[in-house]
Amino acid sequence: MSTRTSDITVIGGGVVGLSVAVGLLRAGHGVTVLDGADGDLRASQGNFGLVWLQGKGARYAPYAHLTSDAVSGWPEFAALIEDLSGVKLSLDQSGGFEFFTDEAEFQDFVADLKQQQQFLGNRFSFETIQGDDLRRSHPEIGSGVVGATFSALDGHVNPLRLLKALKDAVTALGGNIVTDAHVTDVLKGPAGFNIALRSGVRHSADRVVLAAGLGAATLAEKLGFETRVRPQRGEVLITEKLSERLPFLSSTIRQTDEGGLQIGGTKADAGYDDSETLDVMARLAQHAVTVLPALRDMRVVRAWGALRVMSPDGHPVYARSTTHPGAYLVTCHSGVTLAPLHGGALAQWIDNTADAPTLEAFDEDRFTFSPAA
Ligand SMILES: Cc1cc2nc3c(=O)[nH]c(=O)nc-3n(C[C@H](O)[C@H](O)[C@H](O)COP(=O)(O)OP(=O)(O)OC[C@H]3O[C@@H](n4cnc5c(N)ncnc54)[C@H](O)[C@@H]3O)c2cc1C
Repeated sequence: MSTRTSDITVIGGGVVGLSVAVGLLRAGHGVTVLDGADGDLRASQGNFGLVWLQGKGARYAPYAHLTSDAVSGWPEFAALIEDLSGVKLSLDQSGGFEFFTDEAEFQDFVADLKQQQQFLGNRFSFETIQGDDLRRSHPEIGSGVVGATFSALDGHVNPLRLLKALKDAVTALGGNIVTDAHVTDVLKGPAGFNIALRSGVRHSADRVVLAAGLGAATLAEKLGFETRVRPQRGEVLITEKLSERLPFLSSTIRQTDEGGLQIGGTKADAGYDDSETLDVMARLAQHAVTVLPALRDMRVVRAWGALRVMSPDGHPVYARSTTHPGAYLVTCHSGVTLAPLHGGALAQWIDNTADAPTLEAFDEDRFTFSPAA
């Protein structure tokens, strides 16, 4: 058994943990990332790659502001990560649609966006487009679409290349990523944290950031956190590559920079089962053909299910442990969208510097007083 030491250890090497590591390294810390086993659940490998503002925080102003900051930080963050890693992220922030086939859902979402706009003022804008008007500008859209919203602020990125680029960026900044390093226990002693790995190796650190996605479900309690994350399954289809570019981006149909279409957006409570299901795949295909009838003859080449990492109210959690000072919990859905925050100003919050962002609204104490817990 050996013991290795670092200034700050990040538990979890998904998009969230790696982004946090980038931020801490930029702030001058020595950082080790301990990442789990190959078979772990990894939302970062199964997501949709959206960098998305529409609807985010429509019912929670702090989340609307947080997402808006992150979305506007993306061009600079992408340039930094591309520079450090040499990997192209294919960030495209030229706007995106939400398409609706149900009038009541359309009206509810428009009401949400109006609320979001009240929170964000001139930092957010969107258009509401009726189905027939949409078909005048986009004749390829099917008659089953009753309306759409569009925001010029939305976009997407290549999510798998983002993950690879973040790993390379951590290494380029002098960080240490340890793979197959499943953490089984974390203890606080007088000299810092003592971290036990399944392999028998022990690791010590002055401070610990728990960013292990669904792995936080077991480790959070050991560090005195109250948040209990839960899985939510999303399913995704990938089609064969198209020779021409799709004329739009939407939250449920997007064209990857390699040419295939990614179709998704489902939500299901299925516990820890991340398999794809025939009925949801059929519904996704039906949705895509309703929005874009020309897709009728496209071949689907891949499908998968992946589990979102959800807090009790769906909003991010940034918490300092009161029982284990020096331990931090960072967990969220939309870890792609929020990456510029995690790779930037969050380090100041962890260091508690005078210029740290105000993140009290994301503390886990909100679950103590809210029925959402
Ligand atoms: C279908 C789907 C679509 C999505 N679409 C989008 C989108 O368009 N835009 C967006 O912003 N977000 C999207 N998301 C959400 C986004 O993917 C997640 O917010 C993000 O990937 C979470 O990253 P994470 O690092 O917290 O978790 P994960 O990616 O799950 O990574 C957790 C890591 O922790 C490690 N780990 C776990 N337990 C331990 C342990 N005990 N010891 C050591 N390591 C451990 C694992 O090995 C893993 O590498 C989507 C998610 C899904 C499922």
